[in-house]
Amino acid sequence: MSIYREWGVEPIINASGAVTRLGGAPMPKAVLDAFCAAAQESVPLDELQGAASRVIAEATGAEAGIVTSGAAAGLMLGTAAILTGYNLGRMEKLPHTEDFPHEFVVAREHRNGYDHAVRAAGASFVDVGFQEIVAGAGVRRAEAWEYEAAFGPKTAGVLHVYDMNAAPPLAELVKCAHAYNLPVLVDAAGELPPRTNLKSIIASGADLVVFSGGKAIRGPQATGILCGRRDLIGAAMLQMLDMDDHFELWEPPAALIDKQKLAGIPRHGIGRALKVSKEQIAALLTALKLFTSGAYDRELADMARMLQQIADALKKLPVRCQLLPSDGQLYPLLEITLTAGKSAFEVCRALRRGKPSVQVNHGQLAAGKLVINPLHLNDERTAALIRRLQEELSA
Ligand SMILES: *Cc1c(COP(=O)(O)O)cnc(C)c1O
Repeated sequence: MSIYREWGVEPIINASGAVTRLGGAPMPKAVLDAFCAAAQESVPLDELQGAASRVIAEATGAEAGIVTSGAAAGLMLGTAAILTGYNLGRMEKLPHTEDFPHEFVVAREHRNGYDHAVRAAGASFVDVGFQEIVAGAGVRRAEAWEYEAAFGPKTAGVLHVYDMNAAPPLAELVKCAHAYNLPVLVDAAGELPPRTNLKSIIASGADLVVFSGGKAIRGPQATGILCGRRDLIGAAMLQMLDMDDHFELWEPPAALIDKQKLAGIPRHGIGRALKVSKEQIAALLTALKLFTSGAYDRELADMARMLQQIADALKKLPVRCQLLPSDGQLYPLLEITLTAGKSAFEVCRALRRGKPSVQVNHGQLAAGKLVINPLHLNDERTAALIRRLQEELSA
């Protein structure tokens, strides 16, 4: 019996992957155990984040890091840190930033819905370059000089949305920004695997990098990692922690926060609304250890087997199946191309409305394809998924 039925909510079959709207990634048992164990005792949250910083630093090569309530929260906190540094007056003013540098320069092609988190901290964007793909005006991407031309007295930093084929490459952008003493904040929320990205993005000189904890790392859905420069991580943490303490008594972890640089204790900062629980921190750190050890790779063969089973079961139906193999870290995927009858949107809607409700990956619907992501599948769900696919594809 599903716990969700207690509240009249039917669980679905998620063949879509670690998408947020369906609850993120499945947490391994060790992660759930860590969550429960952490719930049974009290610890000072700043000390626990200090310990998290050491674990994250080792995993990423960054000077420091904190657990946030998601990558988007990391973007907001990272922006807040860049906007204020250790300036208590500025911390108190956020998100109102008229009186100090608050512009983030970003390539137009990097603008996306998640950058709302950067704006929510009080930053405003100065867009550079053009999005020329649609116009067909050429194949030029944003160039470093375009960023440089936009830098001025109001500039606070640069936002970069990570992509292996980014132009200009991150290392070049970092060099350009650092020549003007400007920090670079990188959104790498969904850029795992490959595991090497945990270290290589920081190694290219980025000042702050965010990763999702509830995607490939398989921590709690509402977790993320913000890592990078120690002074900025300290400023981010100051603005996230609950500051209901006395300055004289407060002993923040020295490796993260320079108390001597503070004239007093800041009030609850803009990140106080993004608080993270001790259980989430313990669970995320446990998941990070599993992820970095390569433990999840052992499931890939089983995932491919289930996808093949689905493809075999659809052989007599008007579809063409293609199994996209794993590269050794990424999940294998099954693409089901519809060759007759209903559109992919119609089949997708019918799958969602049926019993049990099935949600496939929507990434290729416009191209007439249903994509099956095996992350949430097991043998029982695969059998139910096959039955639902057969029903909707043969009707
Ligand atoms: C998923 C994602 C986010 C948000 O991550 P959360 O951990 O859900 O907050 C931000 N940016 C990009 C590019 C993403 O893919």
